[in-house]
Amino acid sequence: MHSWIDISPTSDFSMYNFPFGVYKTAEGKYHAASAIGEYVIDLHVLAEAKVFHGVLNLDKTTLAQSTLNSFIAQGKAITNAVRTVLQDVFGADNATLRDNAELRSKALLKQGEVQMVLPIHIPNYTDFYSSREHATNVGIMFRDPANALLPNWLHLPVGYHGRASSIVVSGTEIHRPKGQTKADDADKPSFGPCRLLDFELEMAFVVGKETKLGESVSTAHAEEHIFGMMLFNDWSARDIQKWEYVPLGPFLAKNFGSTVSPWIVTIEALAPFKVDGPVQEPEVLPYLKYEGHKNYDINLQVDIVPENGQGKTVCQSNFKYMYWNMSQQLAHHTVNGCNIQVGDMYASGTISGPTPDSFGSMLEISWQGKKPVAMPDGSERRFIQDGDTVVITGHADKAGIRVGFGECKGKILPAI
Ligand code: MN
Repeated sequence: MHSWIDISPTSDFSMYNFPFGVYKTAEGKYHAASAIGEYVIDLHVLAEAKVFHGVLNLDKTTLAQSTLNSFIAQGKAITNAVRTVLQDVFGADNATLRDNAELRSKALLKQGEVQMVLPIHIPNYTDFYSSREHATNVGIMFRDPANALLPNWLHLPVGYHGRASSIVVSGTEIHRPKGQTKADDADKPSFGPCRLLDFELEMAFVVGKETKLGESVSTAHAEEHIFGMMLFNDWSARDIQKWEYVPLGPFLAKNFGSTVSPWIVTIEALAPFKVDGPVQEPEVLPYLKYEGHKNYDINLQVDIVPENGQGKTVCQSNFKYMYWNMSQQLAHHTVNGCNIQVGDMYASGTISGPTPDSFGSMLEISWQGKKPVAMPDGSERRFIQDGDTVVITGHADKAGIRVGFGECKGKILPAI
């Protein structure tokens, strides 16, 4: 697929992608957007110019809202048809936009010159714990190296209900959280800024089709409910977490902020990158069995960039390592009749690979602070320091087809 737009071979936004997002216009309005090469595409402007007139039943007002929820809720028949029109309009032979300088100047904006916003209202957020390597590393560090995985782990995708209100778009600064911690040798807790601030390299999927209370989604139908995916940083305060998490799991160690990338890459754009998942042994219960390829080969990277300093790549991992896939997560989440809603966000859990350079958190990379990472400026990192920016990037690449996610970045400011 060739375009009349000059697209770098390393661009995340090829003719195979066309993700969806929302940006704030110079007039302070919100328009639905897509991306190609170095450009943001204003979908509202294209709709006004009747570019989508062939997409039957498209409600054009859904392209001029502050979130994509009502656009997504129209269903894949419509949202995928919009993507197909974009692929067509940006194709080398299509003159619609190519030869219309006035429309082009209104519809195409340079990325980096416009403000992307959180593209969805998120009714519910769940975080899973689905990387075997991550769960094993944590189990070795905090429990028993001989029995690192808890007895339930190989039988169900462990998860917890997280906080939706504090999920922010890439670029939003986050203050170091304060809270209760207790040192092992102290007899009572103390209060203050978190000292062990961490990132968690994750991906999240966004639900595009709701269910009613009482209904369940099978693994065979789960992907019909998945609109697309984003990069996700589940910021974690390890010292707060350690003191608070028993018996009900993470609470204030997680809910002070999570960062997502601005673009939702559709599950259809990721279809060429489907791969086999790990062998699941022991055999899972029937409702968790699945057929076909349900894992995705997506390269992931985490960089730490100090204030005014040179960055360092601290992790290179891959979404294909996940033990439990998204279809199993959704089947498990709904097997009891729990309903899902359009815009719901389901994060994967930290995505660690088999080798130390693929571990998805500083907790694992520095092995509880015992193996500090050397930074280019001579300093060391065990966890994240004030002024550091954590940048997650991700892309899939196969036979010349490249589909990427852009950036998921956040800077840590001192505690208030
Ligand atoms: Mn997490």
